[in-house]
Amino acid sequence: MRRTRTLAGVGIAAVALLALTACNSGSPTTPGGDTGGGEEGDKPLYEVAESVTLDGSPAYDAMVERGGPIIGVKEDQPNLGYLDVTTGERSGFDIEIARWIAASLGFEESDITYEPIASANREQALVNGDIDYYVGTYSITDSRKEQIEFAGPYFVTGQGFLVSADSEMTEVNDVSDFNGMTVCSATGSTPISNIKENYPEINTEEYDIYSQCVDDLLNGKVDAVTTDAAILIGYAAQDADNLKVLDGLFTEERYGVGIPKGDTALVEHINTLFTEGGDTWQAIFDSTLGQSGIEVEQPAVDPVG
Ligand code: GLU
Repeated sequence: MRRTRTLAGVGIAAVALLALTACNSGSPTTPGGDTGGGEEGDKPLYEVAESVTLDGSPAYDAMVERGGPIIGVKEDQPNLGYLDVTTGERSGFDIEIARWIAASLGFEESDITYEPIASANREQALVNGDIDYYVGTYSITDSRKEQIEFAGPYFVTGQGFLVSADSEMTEVNDVSDFNGMTVCSATGSTPISNIKENYPEINTEEYDIYSQCVDDLLNGKVDAVTTDAAILIGYAAQDADNLKVLDGLFTEERYGVGIPKGDTALVEHINTLFTEGGDTWQAIFDSTLGQSGIEVEQPAVDPVG
């Protein structure tokens, strides 16, 4: 079954990745430029669409009126949603997915405004109309669907654990292996909810963003960071001397694009893009997350999120 293989693939790849980082600078891959559309060699990964019409989408109408989309993103997650503060360049799988969607709506990279939004604030940003859509390791859940729509899924991963490279642990058999220890995650995320609701004997530390958890792990203040394996692999890749991802995945995290409630025209537009754009998805994946050795397949779009 595709799902099982996908999750197992991430776990195995985590190990492969750690081996790979020895000969890699560890810096996130950057396929995109400021010209609109990531590039693979000389060939753009996707073209900016011309003569776009999208009836019945308030978010699209707002983008047109403004002259470009405001996209909610993460910026501290290497290979997914990352901002290089020295160059000002954004990179990663989620950033490229966000750019691909913008291009499909007729917008250039220079038309896009990126808005960093932490896990806990995503639904509210969409409800308030502060952003037109959100692309940032955003799991599709029933409770979130009460407030917003999701297009996708466009990626599937699972909850994993990041520990100090000198930890004696190599794998997690059950999340309860961390009973009595302190694990850190982001406020408002599915992994922190899973721990708090189902594992009362695990102590928790929370921050708005995962990189603060990673700092605490490096400083010995927490025993592990827990969130999606795809995110943790990025942190381990940046600092393989000090960090490692344990084998073992829990939960299924299906990433969707967050859309304002009721904007089904935009949901359908993005779902069609994902369904018909398998080659582009693959090219985006290969030039971002795939660089770290992860092997996954594009999940099928679910019309009801
Ligand atoms: N995918 C999980 C979530 O949406 C964890 C990653 C994140 O916080 O963005 O809650």
